[in-house]
Amino acid sequence: MSCCHNYALGDGGDTAFSVDISSVTFGPGCLAEAGDHAAGLGLRRIALFTDRSLARLEHPQIVRDSLAAAGLDVAVYDEVQVEPTDTSFQAAARFAQEGAFDGFVSVGGGSVIDTCKAANLYAAHPAEFETYVNAPIGGGRPVPGPLKPHIACPTTCGTGSECTGIAIFDLLSMKAKTGIVSRHLRPSMALIDPNVCRTLPESVVAASGFDVLSHALESLTARPYSRRPAAARPGLRPLSQGANPWSDIGCREALRLTGQYLARAVADATDEEARGQLLWAATLAGIAFGNAGCHAPHGMSYSVSGLVRDFQPPGYPDDAPIIPHGMSVIVNAPSVFRFTANACPDRHLAAADLLGAESRGAGKADAGEVLAGRIVELMRETGIPNGLTGVGYGEGDIEALTEGAFPQRRLFDNAPCAIERPALAELYRDALSYW
Ligand SMILES: [Zn+2]
Repeated sequence: MSCCHNYALGDGGDTAFSVDISSVTFGPGCLAEAGDHAAGLGLRRIALFTDRSLARLEHPQIVRDSLAAAGLDVAVYDEVQVEPTDTSFQAAARFAQEGAFDGFVSVGGGSVIDTCKAANLYAAHPAEFETYVNAPIGGGRPVPGPLKPHIACPTTCGTGSECTGIAIFDLLSMKAKTGIVSRHLRPSMALIDPNVCRTLPESVVAASGFDVLSHALESLTARPYSRRPAAARPGLRPLSQGANPWSDIGCREALRLTGQYLARAVADATDEEARGQLLWAATLAGIAFGNAGCHAPHGMSYSVSGLVRDFQPPGYPDDAPIIPHGMSVIVNAPSVFRFTANACPDRHLAAADLLGAESRGAGKADAGEVLAGRIVELMRETGIPNGLTGVGYGEGDIEALTEGAFPQRRLFDNAPCAIERPALAELYRDALSYW
């Protein structure tokens, strides 16, 4: 079977792709530029979003000092919940509405940046909460117009949230993760400072590093944009538009850097080169998946993290069980890529090569195995749990995991081949353990 990613037009698929990116500033110390950039955007009264545990660290303080030095009025919101929910999003939205801010700055991981996006949205375009939430869980109504400027400052090296128009949360009534997706949600500017990586525990770098790796792999192997049915009008073209020549560029370089630096970045907090390169890979992968979209490993991850029982990895807050996002994604990945390789073996082989796999003599029929093998090798090298069993699940959980994930059509439809319910259950079964 030949690769489906030749972007040949026709058959009713889309005939164009869009490139949307935040304005990115990257380099050590750039958090201190926040004030100058905010003033340049014409902001005067700013809501600064962070979370309580971060608020004690230096990063939010550097940003706050910089905003103050530029003469800007700043109100801090530090009630962001790690793994946000509809309730925590709405609390943040009330703060944003009542404060009458003319701009937003977020300093934190994906939870903080996503919460800030949601607060900005509901302050600018008030509506019942479910209005903009992805269908079929929510109303799926398009965001009607632009939001206030948002400068996002990530403090982990993984989510890429600073470059995407996606905000993910747990809908408590359904015990399901879902999200709001719109190009209007994309932060106007990202300040990406490698100094933030110095203080990250190794388990946090491992989980977020695999999130980077999977963003790049999923975007590279996603259904080509030219095979996605064209939207009714251009303004409705989805952010998850499928693989395209633009996202391919970022994916390839992100995979090369992750293959080269992930294990080093996890092993040694003082390895500034490795952690800096991993953060750059996260940026490239974030830009790529923000324009292509992820597929099955992310779609499956929502029920893996949502149904957590008692798993608690080192390096994370110990007040509640948690399967960190990147970990809940990567435990599915080898199983998924063994399955999707047939749809586009060339890309799976190329990805394995970029990740540093030993693929000499491998043919198309080996693509899934070579790629899965390299992911598993990296998982073992960096202390990632052994598949779903390693994070507390067993054969008896497959039905519930499948049930919880199957509504994530936005993601499964973006896979290079159809994934129906029985196949999804098989993917979970094959992800139970890898070694
Ligand atoms: Zn992710």
